Amino acid sequence: MRLPARSGEHSIEDRVVNAADTPPPPVSRPELAGIARHLPVPRAGSVLADLSDSTNAWGPSPEAARAAREAARDVAAYPTPYGSELKAALAAYHQVRPEEVVTGCGSDDVIRCAFAAFGAPGAVITWMEPTFVMIPVFARVLGLEARPVRFGPSFDVDAAALLAERAAMTYLCSPNNPTGTRAGREAVARLLEEAEGLVVMDEAYADFSGESWIADARAGRRLLVTRTFSKSFGLAGLRAGYGIASPDVVEAIEKVRGPFALSLVAERAATAAIGGDLKWMRDHAREAVSNRERLDETLRRQGYAPLASGANFLTVPVRDGMAVADACARRGVIVRGFRALPVVGDAVRVAMAPWPVLEHVVAAFDEVPR
Ligand SMILES: *Cc1c(COP(=O)(O)O)cnc(C)c1O
Repeated sequence: MRLPARSGEHSIEDRVVNAADTPPPPVSRPELAGIARHLPVPRAGSVLADLSDSTNAWGPSPEAARAAREAARDVAAYPTPYGSELKAALAAYHQVRPEEVVTGCGSDDVIRCAFAAFGAPGAVITWMEPTFVMIPVFARVLGLEARPVRFGPSFDVDAAALLAERAAMTYLCSPNNPTGTRAGREAVARLLEEAEGLVVMDEAYADFSGESWIADARAGRRLLVTRTFSKSFGLAGLRAGYGIASPDVVEAIEKVRGPFALSLVAERAATAAIGGDLKWMRDHAREAVSNRERLDETLRRQGYAPLASGANFLTVPVRDGMAVADACARRGVIVRGFRALPVVGDAVRVAMAPWPVLEHVVAAFDEVPR
């Protein structure tokens, strides 16, 4: 049935007839022209496991999944504006105060809002390259001036080079995606002492490395540590992340973020994960680390030299990243192939999974030319 146009409104037909008179469509900001939207690794044929985005191959943490199902009953209401229930749980978990916690629709959201809160258009942002793919995108969208510093062959954070940029914001990621490599304690300490603006430490993979800078992200400090439920807790689809920082840093980020960015379902499920799934998370993180070490040793025996990883993935420099990714895909395992990654060259990033899945990856590496 077609609804009649209300008085004063044009029908669809009128609009089509009048299209020639309408002004041209709006033009988006020129910075956006250089940004490609995120594409998942394409899947072809039957997929045994998708290890391309480093989510949790063991599935979601169970208490969280149960809480998400129950929360569905209550979604007629808004969630708490800034995630106060989850903040309280996280404060107890990390032994900080609730006002030192900021939540978001994934840690991506927290990071982007932090950049917007501390970097006016034209402000300088620096990071070690290569790093998390979203960082250059956020910089461009926000009109920041990106001055990345390349890793050397050891993948150490170069504090002197980062400081030389005199940036309003310094982004660090440890363990770093996509290399898996860790930041050195001394380099980070020096940045926290001498950097001029906000320092962000992205700890998306900290549950696999056991290393954290949360103790440095307290009142009066310049550090924001970000964490996510997407990896170790297996809740990527929920979109729940958080940051820990001085209360004034938290407040500034929340002003940009706005209320209700963490959905009611995400808040309940993430809170349940902190309450009842810590053992599940730690057991599976331990298995991921042990499989990573086993895959590292196995590939070394085949003549590969994986990068030293502290994460739930192993990044392996190869002659042809796409050929290895294709060989894995033919065996039903989706991995991320990179072509000419800065400093690394062609590489493949493999997220951890139960060992029988990784045996297919081992076989694929074995069949391609080194
Ligand atoms: C996966 C990942 C995140 C998590 O993003 P969410 O938005 O929380 O899902 C953040 N940083 C890095 C480096 C990652 O690899």
